[in-house]
Amino acid sequence: MMQCRFCKYPLENIVVDLKNQPSANRLLSREDLHNFKQGKSEWKSPLTTYICEKCSLVQLGNITAPEDLFTDDYVYYSSFSKEWVEHARLFAEETIPKFNLTNKSRVLEIGSNDGYLLQHFVSHKIPCQGIDPAGKAAKAAEEKGVKTIVGFFGKTTSQQIIKQFGVCDLIVGNNVFAHVPKIREFITAIKRCLSEKGVVSLEFPHLASLVEYTQFDTIYDEHYFYHSIVALKQIFSEFDLKIIEVNELSTHGGSLRIFLTHEANNTYSINHSVGRILSKELAMKLDRKEGFRELQKNIGLIRKNALKFIKKRKEIGQNIAAFGAAAKGNTFLNYCGINSRNIDFVADDTPAKQGKFLPGSHIPVVSMDVIRETKPNVIIILPWNVREEICQKLNFVKEWEGQLVTFIPEIKVC
Ligand SMILES: [Zn+2]
Repeated sequence: MMQCRFCKYPLENIVVDLKNQPSANRLLSREDLHNFKQGKSEWKSPLTTYICEKCSLVQLGNITAPEDLFTDDYVYYSSFSKEWVEHARLFAEETIPKFNLTNKSRVLEIGSNDGYLLQHFVSHKIPCQGIDPAGKAAKAAEEKGVKTIVGFFGKTTSQQIIKQFGVCDLIVGNNVFAHVPKIREFITAIKRCLSEKGVVSLEFPHLASLVEYTQFDTIYDEHYFYHSIVALKQIFSEFDLKIIEVNELSTHGGSLRIFLTHEANNTYSINHSVGRILSKELAMKLDRKEGFRELQKNIGLIRKNALKFIKKRKEIGQNIAAFGAAAKGNTFLNYCGINSRNIDFVADDTPAKQGKFLPGSHIPVVSMDVIRETKPNVIIILPWNVREEICQKLNFVKEWEGQLVTFIPEIKVC
């Protein structure tokens, strides 16, 4: 029997079943494809999410080894996205005065990548420490003046941080909290590193957006938890931590940023935003299985419509390509059964991804030039969360009356 990753209660209530899926971030090489042809099978694992009946935590049922996933050739560097660096800069501008951070404060970022965020604190002469498992990214961070420990944040590394750097006044975790399987160890380590009056800031995709807009492709093997305030409030209270503010963000199609502090810290009163989001979630019944009744059906509808659209276009002889080789698109493609037979290629700006193939669907990843050269009739935008930005970037397809399409939450053509 599978158990809740937080409270060990048996996991029985399925929220969504997306069948067997490959690892969403692991792009394949030509050699991998050759090996599959020779009979080697591609790694796949059931992608089933459950809600814990006891603590309401929505989570993946299967287990994969993250040490194996975030390796040195991990292809995503945050600084490659201008929007993400800007998001980080604004975060620094907002939090420095908000929490009175000075050159005597200490800021820690978990999953600090190439220093895309901490560089904005370094430029204000605020002492910073990063931690990230990817060695190459950490080296790039050091070049920006961001001290970085290479490793996973947990029991041992938190002790190392306290010894080398001290307890921290601001601890930041952007899009790491949902990706760490050992949630108890992670929160314990955060609590240990937090100064008496310190604040923690965590960002993660909001479960309410997933349900409301059928964002089923935010579900993939590295994304263990689908968080709600209703579950987190209880979880943090077990550690004598309290949520003092919740901000709704547009990133990833609807994320939350929460601020936490020690239960005993009375510097901040609890913002009304906490109660507001909590009420919204309770109205959606996100604390129990009843809140997810429509989700699987809505996912099936997206699949049906996407396949119908592609079939129709193929029948009239159109060429279809895709844009954006991020983790997100892979769950969508593989669940719908869309592959290299109906999609010619996926274009992506990141040089490290080009020449590789998407997991499961085996669609080749190419550079943007290939769009201009081959003039596809339809381009499916896989990262629908940055649809506007990509539509602008690909506006040149209008020269040959090309169309840009997103399928989530419903078909949108521009
Ligand atoms: Zn539980």
